[in-house]
Amino acid sequence: MLREKCGVFAAVSSGEAFVPLYWGLVAQNHRGHESYGFLTHSDGLKRYVDLGLVPRIEREELIRWQMLLPGKRGIAHVRYGTSGKRDAYSHLRDAQPMVVSHGRSKMGIAFNGNLVNIGWLRGLLAGKNGKMHATSDTELLCSYLASKASVGIRDAIDACMKEVEGAYSVVGLRSNGELFAFRDPLGIRPLCIGKNREGDLTAVSSETVGLDINALNFMGEVEPGEAILFSSNGESMARERLASCPRRALCGFELSYFSRPDSIINGKPVYKTREELGRNLARRYQEYVRRADLIVSIPETAEDAAYGLHEETGIRWERMLRRHRFVTHRAFILDSEDRKVTIDRKINVADGGLGGKRVIVVEDSIVRGDTTKTTIAKLRERGAKEIYMFVTFPRITHPCFYGIDMATFKELIGFRHDEEGIAKEIGADAVCYQPLEYFNRATGMDGRDLCMACVTGQYPTELAQTIADRVKSNITTESCRVYERGLEA
Ligand code: SF4
Repeated sequence: MLREKCGVFAAVSSGEAFVPLYWGLVAQNHRGHESYGFLTHSDGLKRYVDLGLVPRIEREELIRWQMLLPGKRGIAHVRYGTSGKRDAYSHLRDAQPMVVSHGRSKMGIAFNGNLVNIGWLRGLLAGKNGKMHATSDTELLCSYLASKASVGIRDAIDACMKEVEGAYSVVGLRSNGELFAFRDPLGIRPLCIGKNREGDLTAVSSETVGLDINALNFMGEVEPGEAILFSSNGESMARERLASCPRRALCGFELSYFSRPDSIINGKPVYKTREELGRNLARRYQEYVRRADLIVSIPETAEDAAYGLHEETGIRWERMLRRHRFVTHRAFILDSEDRKVTIDRKINVADGGLGGKRVIVVEDSIVRGDTTKTTIAKLRERGAKEIYMFVTFPRITHPCFYGIDMATFKELIGFRHDEEGIAKEIGADAVCYQPLEYFNRATGMDGRDLCMACVTGQYPTELAQTIADRVKSNITTESCRVYERGLEA
């Protein structure tokens, strides 16, 4: 099965929508490198998807793209397929936006997140359609919405909020020209909305950077459980809270790792939160701060935290770890062989005087441990005497069901070992994690408004909790995959 960590964007404009869609994707390319795609509406739906990064489009090529994807409304998507087949055919087949037909109408969606009760959904749709060929969560969700939309897209989204468990931030487009966006009742994945000063361009984006690059003013988050509906001529927009939960559950990992540092989450730039995470580590782990000669950071998401740590301690921050700019693969979503090679290729260590030094290495998270292990080995080769890992995200001990590919207990080094064991396995002298309460404080959010299930084992949705508990009590093989769909029944 596919589990995605993606970026979405939608635009409703008085002119052609392609240009804002394009820039909205470029700004969010960090959320997906495997494929990208556009879907626009003008006399029916027009779709284009391809593999790889969003391409560079020169000014003179724009006309051709706009002719290919005409219309004043559109949606767009960048994708990471975090598991499943990795051949080009599969990537292209699963590229989004994905379009399904229902009767004489069509609907396309772009989706960020992951569904939990997918077995139920598959059964429901198979019952209705006789056969269900869908291979991805996105196709299932799109089929589900299309099957309910004959009474109106608002009611289809309403049903989705009540029946579908998981993380989903969705933008969609119908062949009648209606554009819609919605976010799951817990708001696990981010989604925000903005408008230009003239009022003739409105956009919905996973992150605020998608609005900034289009010079749009931030109007606010799409609230958890909220649907935004644009009329088929794009002239009116309605916002409605269809579901309300007693809590939110924004993915904490967005703050530590996934979101761009210049995005705004909960009214605060992400980089500010990361700086505070670094300062926290300085205050909490004084014994190592006192011993350390140098701070280095694993590029690039740990750099803001390293700055905070440096500011708090006055210890020199040497940016001697550098990333090869065009090796864009994210190591932790590759399989283990690929991962090792990729890590070797992507991080370079410049010998900036490591010989005999005691070094604090700042990292955003440790998932499987192999990225960190490889980096530590490189630092040791350059002569580092002692290495203390300072990790901005708390210790990950549980799998994620909501769109980050860490789906098994046993692949997680933080499940298999305590801090001491982790240090031994990765070759560090100490591993110092962000305490959970410090993490919550740095975000400025109430801890109950964050999902930290991969740290606490307390899942914000019911079925996810049941699956995790059941698998945890029955781990028998190294390859036991928590995401066995049979467990949903
Ligand atoms: S389990 Fe962890 S990675 Fe998954 S949504 Fe929650 S905080 Fe994010």
